[in-house]
This record gives sequence, structure tokens and C-alpha cells, in this order.
Amino acid sequence: MTARVIDGKAFAATIRGKVAGHVARLKADHGITPGLAVVLVGEDPASQVYVRNKGKQTAEAGMASFEHRLDAGTSEADLLALVARLNADPTVHGILVQLPLPGHMNAELVINAIDPAKDVDGFHISNVGLLGTGQKAMVPCTPLGCLMLLRDLHGDLSGMEAVVIGRSNIVGKPMAQLLLGDSCTVTIAHSRTRDLPAVVRRADIVVAAVGRPEMVTGDWIRPGATVIDVGINRIETDGKTRLVGDVDYASAAKVAGAITPVPGGVGPMTIACLLANTVTAACRANRLPEPEGLTA
Ligand code: NAD
Repeated sequence: MTARVIDGKAFAATIRGKVAGHVARLKADHGITPGLAVVLVGEDPASQVYVRNKGKQTAEAGMASFEHRLDAGTSEADLLALVARLNADPTVHGILVQLPLPGHMNAELVINAIDPAKDVDGFHISNVGLLGTGQKAMVPCTPLGCLMLLRDLHGDLSGMEAVVIGRSNIVGKPMAQLLLGDSCTVTIAHSRTRDLPAVVRRADIVVAAVGRPEMVTGDWIRPGATVIDVGINRIETDGKTRLVGDVDYASAAKVAGAITPVPGGVGPMTIACLLANTVTAACRANRLPEPEGLTA
């Protein structure tokens, strides 16, 4: 079997198109321009790239993009004061504080200072609780993107066996909650799981969010299973750097029914879902109907 390749790049473009359509209607019918504020503290090169891409794609979707760059020595109090200003600003519907923050800052404190209704990353403790209890939440972008890919592929996920490898607050745990919300039978595997290959072999859906290059090999995959590879790892081969996932694509693609490549799979969905969350936040703030197909 050769797996169907799940084209996250194309699907993300479809999502961004839907977002742009909804933004245009919000502007024309209600005079509302959804706005996303991104806060970057320090000079982390990867974060700079993410923030630049987020700003560019926000503007391309017709939304207002506000960038706040603070130097690495900024005090936590000053950052909290900025977050408070953004919370109070009616032109800002989404706030994202780019992680990681410098060591002298308490990231949990800062994230929990964001108005939960504007918390488009879905990391605020209120949103974590809402998601965990099956209530309307802002959902973390990467797992939301994975869910959208899975729904697009399978339609109804009800009753499917899903194994999520990784238990981080950013990917693994919210991913498991979302799959449970769609009535999958969910196993969360992690670094202490016994006989991980045997656990993964049970799965109709495997989501790998580990951060270990090409750890999941084809012999772990049940024939025909869907493999969602969240991992982004830089490895050196022949003096060249290349990106690989947590799944050994070559061997897994021979066994799986469908698989996301790295790059071009889950990655592009993350920013698309950030834009989707911002439109959703703008609709909720104005008590307008939410866009269809852009939420969990
Ligand atoms: P993390 O380090 O916070 O969590 C990794 C998890 O993997 C942990 O829960 C740990 O228990 C588990 N783990 C570690 N070693 C393991 C092993 N040998 N066997 C089984 N489980 C093991 O990482 P994260 O933030 O969840 O990110 C995971 C990966 O996803 C990284 O490669 C990251 O770069 C990538 N990522 C991609 C996107 C995207 O937009 N595509 C977004 C976020 C994270």
C-alpha cells in the first residue's frame, strides 16, 4: 500500500480563503475588522520567523495585524501592562504572546493575564478547562489544525481508535481532548509508555507530537491507518539541514492509508487556525454567528 498524502498546504490555503471570505462579510455587513495582536519578546530567530509569517498572513486575510516587539530585557510588569492594554482595546480580538518568553518571565502568569475571549492560542487556563469539559473554548491552533485534516479525510471520527504520542499542554493533551470530543477511543502515549510500538499498532489514527526525528517507523503502523505527524525536527545529513517529522515518512507511507508530510502537512495548518480563531473571537465578541467549519 502507498499512503495518500494529506496536503496540509493546500488545505490550509482553503481555510485561509474561508477566513478571508468571513472577514470580508464582517467588514461589509457589520463594519468589523477582526484584529490580531502578536507580542514578541526578545530576538529568538525561530520566533521572529513565526511572527513575521503570522503578521503577513493576517494582513492577507484582510484582518488588522498589530505587532509589538519588546526587547529581551523588558520587565514582566511591562509585558503584563501591554497585555492589559490589548485586553481593553476593542480593535484587538485576538492576542498571542509568542513563546518561549525570556527566563525572567513567568509564562503561565503572562498567558493567564490574557482575556480568555482573546486567547487565540487557547493556552489560558479557562480555555483549557472549557475544552476539557466539552464547552465552547478557544482551541490551540496545532491540534485544531490536525482535527480539521482528520475530519476532512474521514468525515465522522466516531468510534475510531486514536493514539496520541506526546502529552504536552500545547499539542498532545488538547489533541486528545478534541479526538475524545469527536467520539474517538483515545490513548495518550508518552515517554514512559510501555511497548509503544504495540500501542501505536492499535490505532486507526496516530498523531505523533514528540519532537524526536523519525521515531515512529512503518512497522509500528497498522495497515491503512491515518498518520498525522506534528513533529518539526531539523537534522543534518551530508552537511545539509533538512526538516523531518516524528514519523519515518518513507517506511510509514508504505503501510499507512494516509499520512501528512513534513514540511507541508500539519505546519501550514497552525497559522491558518490562528486566523480562524481570530475570526471566531471577533464573532463571539460581537455576538454574531460563528463561521462554519472553522471551529472544533
Ligand atoms: P514537548 O517536548 O512539550 O512534548 C513532547 C512529548 O513527547 C512529551 O509529552 C513526552 O512525554 C513525549 N515523548 C518524549 N520522548 C518520547 C518517547 N521516546 N516516546 C514517547 N513519547 C515521548 O513537545 P511539543 O511542544 O508537544 O512538540 C512536539 C513536536 O511537535 C515538536 O517536534 C515540535 O517542534 C512540534 N510542533 C509542531 C507544531 C506545528 O505547527 N506543526 C506546533 C507545535 C509543536
